[in-house]
Amino acid sequence: MEINTFCPECENGIFLYEMPKPGLIPCKRCGKGREAEGKGELDAQGSIQKCGLCGCAEFYQQKDFNTKLGLWMVILMVALALIFNRWLIPILVGFAALDLILYFGLPNIVLCYSCRAIYRGLPISPRIEGFDLKVHDQYAFKGKGK
Ligand SMILES: [Zn+2]
Ligand SMILES: [Zn+2]
Repeated sequence: MEINTFCPECENGIFLYEMPKPGLIPCKRCGKGREAEGKGELDAQGSIQKCGLCGCAEFYQQKDFNTKLGLWMVILMVALALIFNRWLIPILVGFAALDLILYFGLPNIVLCYSCRAIYRGLPISPRIEGFDLKVHDQYAFKGKGK
């Protein structure tokens, strides 16, 4: 599994390959880091049940879509369409097909509502649903209160 979080000080990405232990996860960039509760739990199927970073038990799932890659694809598509404008339609159709293939081929990731940690490479329990703004707002407005 892979856990992806970020440093609250400098927003540098932090990658973990196992459940964090309680304490500070050091940041390689600024020397500070993120505090982990270290109470992560998996259920019987190996799906995430409790976030190892903040102890939150609510998660949502989404496609592991890299927005940077998506942006580059659009730029490439526009560039190709401008250069080869005689093949505008085939280029557009080609990219739409590629988009679709990429979309369905992408694995799902699980995100923690509370701390935004990303969990990859774990089975995803059916009880984890898509993003729910209502749940998100509860956490967003609750702030860091414990
Ligand atoms: Zn940092
Ligand atoms: Zn969390």
